[in-house]
Amino acid sequence: MDRTKTEVLRYLGRRRQAVPAELDALVESCMALMRETAAPRHVWRTFDVEDRADGLAPAGTELMLPGQDIRRCLTGCRRVALLAATLGVGADTLIRRWEHTDLTRALVLDACATQLIEEVCDEAERAVEADADMKSAGRFSPGYGDLPLTLQPGFLAVLDAGRRIGLTCTESLILLPRKSVTALIGLGGRARPAAGRCESCAARGVCDFAKRGEVCP
Ligand code: SF4
Repeated sequence: MDRTKTEVLRYLGRRRQAVPAELDALVESCMALMRETAAPRHVWRTFDVEDRADGLAPAGTELMLPGQDIRRCLTGCRRVALLAATLGVGADTLIRRWEHTDLTRALVLDACATQLIEEVCDEAERAVEADADMKSAGRFSPGYGDLPLTLQPGFLAVLDAGRRIGLTCTESLILLPRKSVTALIGLGGRARPAAGRCESCAARGVCDFAKRGEVCP
């Protein structure tokens, strides 16, 4: 089974289980439809990492990165990239359309969109690495660990994401379009992940490190 399908099934809560032929075919057709419908766009900028009295910050911005988790992630990193990516409104509309008539299909489409935005972020991360000529220390998003979601408006403003890729957030800090991601990418350092903290972490089950079977630095 290819990796895309394995990941989609994992988002659907099916790990190492036999997959009925009907579900297998549904995942395949939904993934094809999502790829056709989505209009992926992303934007990123890289900055020096500035260590200010009240926390880390991308140099030259007003954006503070509070908390210990992002400090651990950026250990040894000289640069940090801010990345925002979206599948566009079409992906949301497609999922919503099926929610009224076929909830199973809607759930599979949702899982396909989650996988697709991860692929978009993976590709963007590789471009960031190539541009900086530095290795990524992994992605870390607002809302993971103790990095607050309240960062979203300032994060999007630094990237001018509304104008450049049509990505905004609501007053309740939900990204619009929904199938979108913001993430920080540490560059130029590679701290070894420490194990055993995920059980009590608020980001358990959603963060990229854990999805890859790793632990954040
Ligand atoms: S779930 Fe684990 S790897 Fe992910 S942010 Fe939390 S502690 Fe780090």
